[in-house]
Amino acid sequence: MLIVKKFGGTSVANKTRIFNVARRCVAEYKKGNDVIVVLSAMGKSTDELIEMAKEINPKPAKRELDMLMVTGEQISVSLMAMALDSLGVPAISLNAFQVAMHTTSAYGNARLKNIDTERIKNELENRKIVIITGFQGVDAENDFTTLGRGGSDTTAVALAAALHADACEIYTDVDGVYTADPRIVKNARKLDEITYDEMLDLASLGAGVLHNRSVEMAKKYGVQLVVRSSLNENEGTIVKESAKMERMLISGVAVDKDCARIAVIGLLDQPGVAFKLFNHLAHHNINVDVILQSIGRDGTKDISFTVAKDSLDDALAVLESHRETSLKCDKIDVDRDIAKISIVGAGMISNPGVAAKMFEAMYDANINIKMISTSEIRITVIIDQADVDRAAVAVHDKFGLGSPNT
Ligand code: ASP
Ligand code: MG
Repeated sequence: MLIVKKFGGTSVANKTRIFNVARRCVAEYKKGNDVIVVLSAMGKSTDELIEMAKEINPKPAKRELDMLMVTGEQISVSLMAMALDSLGVPAISLNAFQVAMHTTSAYGNARLKNIDTERIKNELENRKIVIITGFQGVDAENDFTTLGRGGSDTTAVALAAALHADACEIYTDVDGVYTADPRIVKNARKLDEITYDEMLDLASLGAGVLHNRSVEMAKKYGVQLVVRSSLNENEGTIVKESAKMERMLISGVAVDKDCARIAVIGLLDQPGVAFKLFNHLAHHNINVDVILQSIGRDGTKDISFTVAKDSLDDALAVLESHRETSLKCDKIDVDRDIAKISIVGAGMISNPGVAAKMFEAMYDANINIKMISTSEIRITVIIDQADVDRAAVAVHDKFGLGSPNT
């Protein structure tokens, strides 16, 4: 069997953890399996690299920032190869260039296009454990790129798909996917399984367990994932096409504090305005989330939307640069103190009244709702960031998601 194992930064944060991972990989290898290991950078080292860059230049060129960030993964993979060697198991580390993992040139947010699998296959045939840098790619110019923060999950899934792996295991510092963030909601329960679609909504809504593009890719290529802890032997959560028949109405409550709201006020109330606005942002690779348009008055209207906090400055710069020419708005207003809370569940499709129940939980907790957006299996509301932890507990309780024994 071919097994892809991905370990996040906390799982390789220090020498003890590196050897812990190495031993797990050796155990897999000794069963006779082929093992590919995908690693993130050690601990918080990607954050530290970004800090270093910003001390030199507050707005570093994206190409150079990628050039810097890819060093983090190179440290963890080479150390892992050394650890495995010291345990007497042959291993080799490869970066994205050596593999090669081809991506677009969108530095900081590149997309994988294809992976050359020959080198990996050869090394596996020589019975080596192959350790590959997560997060990295190379573009057509042979420049390094990165896949976006948390992108190592996507590297692992892409490798599992390209090599038709028998299993893709994502190891992290929690036991799996929970009904809510256990740091916020004390009685949150671990899920045994969850569908790709639910996970996709949870991932992109900031549940923080998996990179959303990794789930997109897993769904597209039918790669079944297991999310589990690198620190114990617990079973984890399986992410797959369809989950058990008997399901809860709601699978989980996700909170995202990493967003900001932009309101573009006094736009002309005529065709093409929304197109222009979001087209400018799309051209700069800025993802927009919840969108709200007000009812027009006196020939004008307002459009508000949310973006991830780290694209706020870019988004504002783009809007300012088109303000006089194509947008012709009165004012651009920003609220940084918002948060998103969402409920996700495939069971919602056939059950009316789920939204009302969520809003009732917010009302009972006296929390004001600023924006609402829904999909078939998700309801998202934007509220004040100060209220969001309380809101998560209230909603989680309302739907009875907590584990019975806590
Ligand atoms: N090291 C990168 C990050 O911190 C990629 C990853 O962890 O998946 O975002
Ligand atoms: Mg991660």
